[in-house]
Amino acid sequence: MSVHQAPFRLGLIGYPLSHSLSPRIHTAALQACALQGDYSLFSVDPDDHQSLKDLLARVRSGEVHGLNVTIPHKQNVIPFLDQLTSTAEAIGAVNTIYLRDNKLIGDNTDAPGFLADLNKFLTTETQRHGDLNALVLGAGGSARAVVYALLNEGWSITITARRIEQAKQLAASFANYHLPITVHNFLATEIHSTNLQSLITNLSLIVNTTPIGMAPNTNQSPWPENVPFPPHAAIYDLVYNPRETKLVRDACSQGLSATTGLGMLIEQAALAFQTWTGHNPPREVMLEVVNYTAH
Ligand code: NAP
Repeated sequence: MSVHQAPFRLGLIGYPLSHSLSPRIHTAALQACALQGDYSLFSVDPDDHQSLKDLLARVRSGEVHGLNVTIPHKQNVIPFLDQLTSTAEAIGAVNTIYLRDNKLIGDNTDAPGFLADLNKFLTTETQRHGDLNALVLGAGGSARAVVYALLNEGWSITITARRIEQAKQLAASFANYHLPITVHNFLATEIHSTNLQSLITNLSLIVNTTPIGMAPNTNQSPWPENVPFPPHAAIYDLVYNPRETKLVRDACSQGLSATTGLGMLIEQAALAFQTWTGHNPPREVMLEVVNYTAH
């Protein structure tokens, strides 16, 4: 447990930040744990590396106690840190920063946050069916965290991306896991290929890591209209705004178990909060403040 007495100064670096739910989630966590403090938004232009450096100096001096990092700075902050956790190192991106033993540490709680929520979802909402075969849609930043998390749980993974090179690079960076990762062009362009059809039939999990379906484009889905869902797949959509995405709605209407990424958002926040404060915050309180306000 932390012996920290002064108010916790926490915050988020990113750009743009106007829609961030993090201040509400972390303020609820502070209150639930009876801690003084605040969570500020630090909007830093994509190319403004001096401001990043200045903010990190405030963590080093002890003025700021913890920072989250989001797009577009998850990789930009790395040169200014002293050390990465093994998770951040493997993923190549940082979403949580703190000072430990006078060292600025970069961690990544997206991967364990995803896994914590996925495992809750798979045990409470559905049974694991057949082999651990997952299809990951997209190959950007969050796909890296998802692939890392799934590999550590022994899943075989197929990645589909509209830029096949991006998917190949992602797969290559995890080659040391010696687990099969195959890559395909994004579904809509290759869906009729026989290989992909047989792959789809054997899937037990589909994870959407693209922003397709995110507000305001709530009538879009990354899953092609003309392709039936795999019969036994669970669907995890990282998008959490709207509260129910078209992908989740379509999958549920065909009898599949599906969830959005709100639970992952809460878990990654809770893990960062625990690192900063030493307190394990109640998830239900953090969820309550965003559950009915995401649209
Ligand atoms: P990112 O780094 O920009 O990656 C997005 C990926 O999706 C890229 O591979 C991108 O391809 C692809 N993509 C984008 N639009 C596409 C389209 N129309 N068709 C096909 N592929 C498309 O973004 P990210 O950080 O991974 O975030 C992705 C989504 O996950 C966002 O909606 C974000 O809010 C959500 N997210 C949720 C959580 C959570 O806690 N639930 C955590 C992180 C992220 P290109 O590179 O070719 O554009």
